[in-house]
Amino acid sequence: MRTAQEILQAAQAFAEEELRPQAGAFEAEEEIPREVIRRLAQQGFLAASFPVQYGGLALDPVEYGLFTEEIGKACNSMRELITVHTSLVGESLLRWGTPAQKEHWLPKMARGELLAAFALTEPDVGSDARGVRTTYVKTEEGFLLQGRKKWISFADIADLFLVIASDAQTGEVTAFLVERSQTGVSTTKMSGLLASKASHLAEIDLHDVVVPHENVLGRIGGGFSYIVNSALDHGRYSIAWAGVAIAQESLNAMATYARTRRQGGKLICEYDAVQALLADAHVQLQAARALCLSVGRLRKDKHHEAMIQTSIAKVFTSKMAMKVATDAVQVFGGNGFSNQYPVERLFREAKVLEIIEGTSQVLQPVIAQQVLRTCHHRGAEA
Ligand SMILES: Cc1cc2nc3c(=O)[nH]c(=O)nc-3n(C[C@H](O)[C@H](O)[C@H](O)COP(=O)(O)OP(=O)(O)OC[C@H]3O[C@@H](n4cnc5c(N)ncnc54)[C@H](O)[C@@H]3O)c2cc1C
Repeated sequence: MRTAQEILQAAQAFAEEELRPQAGAFEAEEEIPREVIRRLAQQGFLAASFPVQYGGLALDPVEYGLFTEEIGKACNSMRELITVHTSLVGESLLRWGTPAQKEHWLPKMARGELLAAFALTEPDVGSDARGVRTTYVKTEEGFLLQGRKKWISFADIADLFLVIASDAQTGEVTAFLVERSQTGVSTTKMSGLLASKASHLAEIDLHDVVVPHENVLGRIGGGFSYIVNSALDHGRYSIAWAGVAIAQESLNAMATYARTRRQGGKLICEYDAVQALLADAHVQLQAARALCLSVGRLRKDKHHEAMIQTSIAKVFTSKMAMKVATDAVQVFGGNGFSNQYPVERLFREAKVLEIIEGTSQVLQPVIAQQVLRTCHHRGAEA
């Protein structure tokens, strides 16, 4: 069995050889070829955090974070596949699945025979996820699902969807494992996106879909409190590391450019103002990485603060990534606007991190509640 160090080296090699050279082409063609995903799966990288018994690499949360960064630095869309397939759906199955569900789905997901997507958002329901309008009705044959999901990463090619729906009568939210092959399931690819162009985003139409009883994940009515909350927690951890990845790439690009671009008879890295941008980006990135590593350790220890600290890391690193990517465009000047240089794509890719898995604005009140519960200053009371 490979050590975590060997796995991380293999991930870095795969990212450098198979992803980085093609990331621009994936975006231009608006897809990651199945063959590349197949090769990624062959290395076990679609199941990096799964236990060995399900075909996984058994990376712990800190190692999984570092792995996510390696993939994310080279190709944000491939990182996005890992976020939804492994973190959101895979980890949900591991946590809430029955032994039979785990045995059935996880090894296939690990081998890449089956790609999974997480279907929560709808055309009219995003942040208010408790209010999903996709409905289910219990029948003798199974659960009858009706509704439409939107903005679902990799839904265009996924074989399995973790669909969040509400009881048509009571409004109770439940999670269902829905297969693409089931009658009444269809997808429509989304295009014209700012970024994540190669992430196979699609809408999912569920028309009279009968889902067998054994495809309920967790308990009936536990879809929001248990499945959505824990899935998004795993997703946020992945997104926090995606922010580190984008910022590191941006910093590498801006430092390289500043060392070679000359203006006014000097290299631009000799100007104090440019150095200030480089230094600030470096400081922010170091802080974000330290935070993500600390959160990874909390997650490894199953610490009671792990979930809130994950949200804090997601908010911080996504904002930091946007700032660093913006400053990288600044250092590139006009060239920063051109897709001939890497920072144009990084700038667009950073933006989505502040939106997915709970926007920064939606997470802030949750963080504020923790502040109000835990922060006191003797003598400050009115
Ligand atoms: C590239 C991409 C990939 C995605 N992949 C997936 C996926 O795989 N699966 C999936 O289910 N979804 C996915 N999404 C959807 C994403 O999770 C939602 O876009 C996100 O949750 C925000 O929902 P919304 O777009 O409906 O915005 P809205 O909820 O309409 O929010 C609009 C604005 O209002 C603010 N706002 C809303 N409610 C509040 C509040 N209570 N307090 C303060 N401010 C508020 C928001 O912060 C935001 O600024 C993806 C989106 C994108 C762009």
